[in-house]
Amino acid sequence: MPDRQIQRVLNDALQQFSDLEEGANADYIPALAEVDSDIFGIALVTPDGRVFTAGDVESEVSIQSISKVFTMALVMEQQGADFAPDGVGVDATGQVFNSIVAIEQYKGAEMNPMVNPGAIATTSRVAGESREEIWNRILEFHSRFAGRTLEVNQPVYESEAATNQRNVAIGRLMYAYGHIDSNPDQATDIYTEQCSINVNARDLAVMAGTLANAGLNPVTGEAVMSAANVPETLAIMSTAGLYDDAGKWLYRTGLPAKSGVGGGIVAVSPGRFGIAAIAPPLDEAGNSVKAQRAIEYVSNALGGNPYEVE
Ligand code: GLN
Repeated sequence: MPDRQIQRVLNDALQQFSDLEEGANADYIPALAEVDSDIFGIALVTPDGRVFTAGDVESEVSIQSISKVFTMALVMEQQGADFAPDGVGVDATGQVFNSIVAIEQYKGAEMNPMVNPGAIATTSRVAGESREEIWNRILEFHSRFAGRTLEVNQPVYESEAATNQRNVAIGRLMYAYGHIDSNPDQATDIYTEQCSINVNARDLAVMAGTLANAGLNPVTGEAVMSAANVPETLAIMSTAGLYDDAGKWLYRTGLPAKSGVGGGIVAVSPGRFGIAAIAPPLDEAGNSVKAQRAIEYVSNALGGNPYEVE
């Protein structure tokens, strides 16, 4: 695909959707309400390491739920991909990302690593002797996907840690049902910290590009995760990456994707490109309005739907 064509499609997407006024910043985490709502950036990375950007790809936002993908991939590296279907679940819950009803329905079984109960259970499985060791592994793993050393947005972490009673309850309920076998409050705290990792749109696109390239970071050349675990990672993203709107998203794009309430979305067209966009205002399901539109537009213009045969 010629560079000029890709760049033009990104520019068009930026122009078409930058004036969209729909949606609002997440405000259940107080620090997220303060983030500039006008941040809008798009980035695309090809398996041969070309990076295309449009708009604001410098501003950093907290990664939030997009971290669920990479912590899950880390546990797959440590325990094998089957920890997910065997231990956490891989079906869509059809409920909002922090649903207690979803837990109650199957007593904490049949969760999905892309929604909070499954994600906290997944974080609780990261191997390590101490909280510090577990945390360092998570941060380092995310950094290798991004191809640079990522850092935590401390005000966001503190803001969420002070107000995340619901996630603490989710962690404890998962513990009560036997799906977490270490300290659930520590798992929730580490999960909260992983959600506070700062990223820009370029970082997210490199992370997605690594998944599009069988686990090999196309920019740094580093093998970050084993190719064998990538198809399962993408499948799980497809089932619940956009939570209760995952079906609508898949119908429109065919792309495994993951959103975060910080306003980012990553999507993967296997073997073709990784793409990401950041724009903080969210729709009712908690997915960035502009990022969804921009990624859908770019992917469809570039033939990114994996179900389409040329
Ligand atoms: N840290 C957020 C939470 O647990 C992440 C949610 C999200 O991005 N959907 O509520």
